[in-house]
Amino acid sequence: MAKKTSARAAAKASLTGKRVGLYPGTFDPPTLGHLDIVKRALKLVDHLVIGVGVGTGKNPLFSFEERVAMWQHEAGVLTKDGGTIEVQPFGNALQVDFARSVGASIVVRGLRAMTDFEYEFQIVGMNQRLAPDIETVFLMADPRYLSIASKLVKEVAMLGGNVSPFLTPHVADLLVKRCKELAKKRK
Ligand code: ADP
Repeated sequence: MAKKTSARAAAKASLTGKRVGLYPGTFDPPTLGHLDIVKRALKLVDHLVIGVGVGTGKNPLFSFEERVAMWQHEAGVLTKDGGTIEVQPFGNALQVDFARSVGASIVVRGLRAMTDFEYEFQIVGMNQRLAPDIETVFLMADPRYLSIASKLVKEVAMLGGNVSPFLTPHVADLLVKRCKELAKKRK
């Protein structure tokens, strides 16, 4: 634990003077919508921490380690235009405390529809009171990706539909594989 804390402190020190953002989420799995938000966020910050939620309450299809590995696989393409990305576990902590612990002054969230707005509206209001030094920034993905939701993509995959319009080829392969494993188990 002490090792982890000192590694985090060292990483934080190396970011002095840089604008750091946090993009938290469950990412079960990361979709083209999530990737588009990361690309846009990298225009605003020098360093983006992708906080992958352990998400046990959401009963994720992919383990936390698998979701982290998916982001690490995509990181190279995402950072080719500049900026750096780091993927970090985001467990049992308040979002604003986690943001502070990674040196982030901005929390990035994606907005799709009014339903997202209502949910985010309350969280931001509370976070503003808890941490006035941290700003939440909402970004909209390219309209092509606005209707994509991890939950629906999983449903399409479970029913044997084509998920390639919604995911990178790597993540699509992993999702199809996972669904086949589950279908076999259920037989
Ligand atoms: P949560 O944080 O609720 O577990 P997700 O992991 O699905 O949600 O998403 C993380 C963030 O990315 C949220 O801010 C969500 O609104 C945003 N997001 C998800 N899908 C899209 C999309 N297709 N376009 C834009 N933003 C998105």
